[in-house]
Amino acid sequence: MKLEIGASTDRGKVREGNEDSFVVDERMGLIAVADGMGGHRAGEVASATALEALRANVASGLAIRDAIVNANLSVFEKAASDEDLLGMGTTVTAATVATGDTLLVGHVGDSRLYLLRDGEFRRVTEDHSLVEEMVRDGQLTREQAAVHPRRSIITRSVGIDETVDVDVVPIELGLGDRLLFCTDGLTDMLREDDIATLLRRESDPQRAAAALVAEANDAGGEDNITAVVVDAVAGESLVVNPAAALFPDPVSDDDSSEVPGDPSEPSPEDPSNDGERPKPRWRRVGRAVARVLVWAVPILLVIAIGIGAVGWYARSTYFVTLDDDRVVLYKGRPGGVLGWDPTVELETDLSASDLTGAQLDDLTNDQTFGSREDAEEYLAILERSAQERSAQERSAATTTTTTTPVTEPVAP
Ligand code: MN
Repeated sequence: MKLEIGASTDRGKVREGNEDSFVVDERMGLIAVADGMGGHRAGEVASATALEALRANVASGLAIRDAIVNANLSVFEKAASDEDLLGMGTTVTAATVATGDTLLVGHVGDSRLYLLRDGEFRRVTEDHSLVEEMVRDGQLTREQAAVHPRRSIITRSVGIDETVDVDVVPIELGLGDRLLFCTDGLTDMLREDDIATLLRRESDPQRAAAALVAEANDAGGEDNITAVVVDAVAGESLVVNPAAALFPDPVSDDDSSEVPGDPSEPSPEDPSNDGERPKPRWRRVGRAVARVLVWAVPILLVIAIGIGAVGWYARSTYFVTLDDDRVVLYKGRPGGVLGWDPTVELETDLSASDLTGAQLDDLTNDQTFGSREDAEEYLAILERSAQERSAQERSAATTTTTTTPVTEPVAP
């Protein structure tokens, strides 16, 4: 059995932004819708943050309940860190494909999951809303609840509190089953009978999702609208074990219980399995850090070696050149290399006028040397030849035989 999925979301006709989010990941076997709420655009942040975190947690092998519990904490912490996001929250109605053809549904809030099976359309999730509680208590009929002015008040949401109570519902999928995940922007605008009629009529899941959104808009589009239609059809499943195959965990050898292995084993996501507890948060953070380090350390080493090599290359040589008419010894390479600029090692007292034409030509081409000794030897040659030439000039001009040190050149 495999899943064929169609999804559609729309701002609607009244709201300025779309605070709904959805995620459909066939390889991971994850489907989710979220309806964010909060001032300004915080609702968008809440629903997107929740589903990003949900996806990451499912990818790391967590069961749907723990994945939503962690997503709740992600939204809660993000809200606490930013004044503009304070108090934001979101619904989450999500499902993962567990062992075999079992779909595990995790649910918080008033988004919904419906199942169309053998022509019969039924709601799988219970709304965590004020009016739903009033219906359960017999204070309202379902018909009254559907049009109640306070029907959008929800009693449970993701991100409002540090902890969250998640409903988990398993569904044994059968061939031909059709699921609908949707936000209240759909169910507030359309009667359940009309939704069912459309789902029975339109066989293509993408066209069905788009048609539902279009009808909700036609009916007023008072809220953001999201519909995800999932068909269980014959075929090879695309879903691979998310933890073990998609994201091999290099540091998980101490913790094999987190990686679902043999599919014949009872699923750790089994809602009756109360022994399964969320991993301590510090440990998950530690594992995330370790996972990053496994990749980051070699990369940083290569970068450091690269920088070192460039630095060594840039700084390993010396060159002699003319700087403002003066002969100067530099450490480094002429012009520098990738930000490693040459530095002055020695300013000699030799000026251009002390040099022969050939020596001047050499210096305009920057004489480079592999060591400081070689460079100083070259400078010594320049000085000796300058001394000799100045001595010759003096003996030619005068009978005085005093030699003048080259460090105090006599003006011509
Ligand atoms: Mn809504």
